[in-house]
Amino acid sequence: MSTIVLPPLALPENLNYIAVFLTLDCNLNCAYCINDPEQGGQRRDLFHNPDTALPPQDWIRGLSRIPFSDDLPITLQGGEPTLYWGSKGLGEILAGLPHYFDLLTNFALKPDKFARLLNGQQKKLQRDAPYPSIRVSYHPEEMERTWKGRGFEELVERCAALADHGFRVSPVKAESDVGIYMVAHPDNAVTPRMRAACKDRVPFEAKEFLGMHNGQLFGSYLYPFSTHLTAANIYPRTLNCECRTSELLLDPLGFVWGCHFYLYEAWKNGVAEREFPGLRQMDYRFNRNSDRLFANEVLRPIGHILDPDFAMDSLRQFRPCSYYGRCIGCDTKVKNNRFQSLDDKNIAHTSVEIRNIEMPPELLDHPEILPHQRKYLRA
Ligand code: SF4
Ligand code: SF4
Repeated sequence: MSTIVLPPLALPENLNYIAVFLTLDCNLNCAYCINDPEQGGQRRDLFHNPDTALPPQDWIRGLSRIPFSDDLPITLQGGEPTLYWGSKGLGEILAGLPHYFDLLTNFALKPDKFARLLNGQQKKLQRDAPYPSIRVSYHPEEMERTWKGRGFEELVERCAALADHGFRVSPVKAESDVGIYMVAHPDNAVTPRMRAACKDRVPFEAKEFLGMHNGQLFGSYLYPFSTHLTAANIYPRTLNCECRTSELLLDPLGFVWGCHFYLYEAWKNGVAEREFPGLRQMDYRFNRNSDRLFANEVLRPIGHILDPDFAMDSLRQFRPCSYYGRCIGCDTKVKNNRFQSLDDKNIAHTSVEIRNIEMPPELLDHPEILPHQRKYLRA
């Protein structure tokens, strides 16, 4: 392990989310996968799942640069994060850092095994927040198949069993450390059976579906055509623009990415695993070497968490992008920031800010471009 001292990172006020994709490996193979931008339903083929992942000690070193904050947790996600490092890594990371964490999981492990994996660090997943720290995703098709028609019931039982392992479990969202979430995809119905299974036990919510289904676009987005320009055959190619993020997105090898599209697409194309060994040999000096190392890559990360020269300022630089129109919905959808800006002040937040979109003349009068969106287009 490198012994170079890593300076602490300043947490800007506008940093809204810290995500660590511990692994893109997963026990399930959902047709609508959050990591699968094209919704191809072939995630094991799409993601190369290299044997290499950043070891827990390196994550502890890198994440210890982030100042402790009681209202900005580090969110551990994937893939399925409990599978990371032979299902031993999660507890090591929790034990090695003072921070609060959120966990996005499909509850792949039985509650006893999950609790053992946490290494006595339950408190790190228990924060006073309006929503549960452990957010369990329900994937109807895969889970009903795996648990032979009682997938939702099994999930509720697994969540409820966390009460025996030091967690607060309550049907009230703000009082529970664990809750179940389902994407409100048009094919996913909330049934009376499901409502009965979670009633008075575990919070359950359906979350907005983002994307195309049978030619219809779901979700509301700040920038015109950002997610579906080519998918909906509105235009044959993506557009140029400038973009910057308000999130710290870290992939399984510690690379920092400017948005979810770049992260997923680069992993799909094997970029991170291809360039990682070279970067490790350079003591992770990404800023000094990225032009040389990534000379042949269009999809480049913007930093590495173990690079002593990495600073949060790099998230706030507008960078040119030529993939506008294939953005991932969670980056461009209109939502609250962590201060509830949309609900309280009617100020729309998006994970990325986009400007100077080079809209082709033939689309300028398209009815999907609303008057208030013209300010995002190149004059
Ligand atoms: S559980 Fe999540 S990461 Fe795994 S296949 Fe399903 S949507 Fe993808
Ligand atoms: S414009 Fe879209 S694809 Fe390009 S960096 Fe921004 S969010 Fe990502």
